[in-house]
Formats: sequence, structure tokens, C-alpha cells
Amino acid sequence: MPVERSALTEHPTPGVRCRFCGSAHVHRSRRRGLKEGVLYRLALLAPARCSQCQARYATLSLRFKAGRHKRYRNFLEFIGLRDFRAQRKAAIYIAVTLVGVVLVYVVATVLLMMVK
Ligand SMILES: [Zn+2]
Repeated sequence: MPVERSALTEHPTPGVRCRFCGSAHVHRSRRRGLKEGVLYRLALLAPARCSQCQARYATLSLRFKAGRHKRYRNFLEFIGLRDFRAQRKAAIYIAVTLVGVVLVYVVATVLLMMVK
């Protein structure tokens, strides 16, 4: 597993200990994917990374001070889609869905007007 250089903090987080090795050098890890971006948030969980043993696991997000991490550039990044490919895929999916909804609405409206 590649070692993740964290831009968040390299300092020990007070009151947080690694679940696996007990080290105090546990820091907040960035959210990856929809599971961590959406489901973890709903459950008030955040990914944590141990600098000692490199373990990465979910922990209560309240354990970490808010506002220390970088702001998100867009909504897709906020919900955990960090890499460009995943964001592009999601953007295309959303656009196609919106166009589909508009088309269904227009077709339905025209059909209803024809019935009357
Ligand atoms: Zn550890």
C-alpha cells in the first residue's frame, strides 16, 4: 500500500489513538469515493490514517477539529469523487439524466395536450 502524504496535518491529534497500534499520530484522511463522501457523512464518520502503521479506518468525525482541511472545489469533490475521471463520469451522468428528465416532461406534456 503506498504511503499517503497527508496535506491535512502531520501532528498528533489530541485524544485520538490508532485503533490498531495505539499510536497518537492519527490524522484525518481525505474522503474517497461515494461511500466515504456520502454514507460516512450521514453516519458522522470520517476516514482516519495512522502515520505509524498506515492503517486507514473510519472513526467519528467529531474527534477531529473542523476546518483544518482544504475546502472542496466542487460538489462532486465534496461527495468523495476526487479524481478527474470519476468527476467527469458523474458530470456526464447528471447531464444525461437532466436531459432525460426534460425530454420525458416535454413528451408527456405534448401527449397530454393531444389527449384533450
Ligand atoms: Zn497505527
